[in-house]
Amino acid sequence: MSTLDNILEQINKAESIVILTHENPDGDAIGTGLALYNALKQYGKKADIIIPEYPRNFSFLPGTEEIKKESEVKKYDLAISVDCATIKMLNGFSNYFEDAKVKISIDHHSTNTMFGDYNYVIPEAPACAQVLIVMLEYFKIDITKEIGTCILTGIITDTGGFKYSGVTAETFEFVAGLMNKGINVSKIYRKVLQTKTRANFELNRIATDRLEFLEDGKVAFTYITKEDEEKVSAESGDHEGIVETGRDIEGVEVSIFIRQTDKGCKVSMRSNEYVNVSDICLLLGGGGHIRAAGVTMQCTIEQAKEKILMHVKKVI
Ligand code: 5GP
Ligand code: MN
Repeated sequence: MSTLDNILEQINKAESIVILTHENPDGDAIGTGLALYNALKQYGKKADIIIPEYPRNFSFLPGTEEIKKESEVKKYDLAISVDCATIKMLNGFSNYFEDAKVKISIDHHSTNTMFGDYNYVIPEAPACAQVLIVMLEYFKIDITKEIGTCILTGIITDTGGFKYSGVTAETFEFVAGLMNKGINVSKIYRKVLQTKTRANFELNRIATDRLEFLEDGKVAFTYITKEDEEKVSAESGDHEGIVETGRDIEGVEVSIFIRQTDKGCKVSMRSNEYVNVSDICLLLGGGGHIRAAGVTMQCTIEQAKEKILMHVKKVI
């Protein structure tokens, strides 16, 4: 029996199902979570989806009105985690996962620690949402307009609008299929990627102003503090995209962005051609993908910067 057969068997058996994703969820996390939620509903299975906080530009997605912040259910029959590489990243509500009778992880991170009883992980997939396409096709669950919209949101977010190297022919084939179903790809693209909040713009302005070039211009570094976020009344997700500013500058190989939070320094790293930022973040206790990775460090911004640069210098 394949992993997907096992997963379907567990879904069929479960009387209560919960869908979870990582904290500070991005479009892939929310899109894949909601796509799975809508797909299970269509399949005849009622599930809970728990996401305490998410950026409001995703509130147009079908099913968001049913997202729970928490649940009174103590022990679910089945917990499914999407787009999450480690159990630690389910931070704050990992209890729903740990307490469930059966645990499944659906993901696309090469650094996934295989923390489920069943793990369906495709590291080559450019978005977790694309992993879900494979699953739903295998389960013969029809990808409706609603489910397609959620999946498309995940793909657009994690591929930076179809531009990252992980994009495959299947990505475009799938999008073409959605267009044939009447989905307005351009409209979703604009909602997901092009519409910035004012706070996001203001944070970008601060971070851009602070951006410095290191290692002969091959490294771009910047940060934002808690005070910056308070000053612009930042909400969930308003820091998204800042790390890309550095990466897009000519000559830059690695972009480093640090965000100060109550839980420590949240580091985002991106690279262009040859530096494996996932390896660097792994060494520091985090993970991610070759060209996009992150880690949370318990130290000051200066100390974090120094530690990261020590590793970057060896490979730049
Ligand atoms: P971002 O910079 O957008 O927060 O994250 C980039 C990628 O790295 C995402 O795929 C994310 O899941 C992963 N990532 C970010 N922070 C961490 C972390 O602390 N641990 C692990 N394992 N992965 C992380
Ligand atoms: Mn993802």
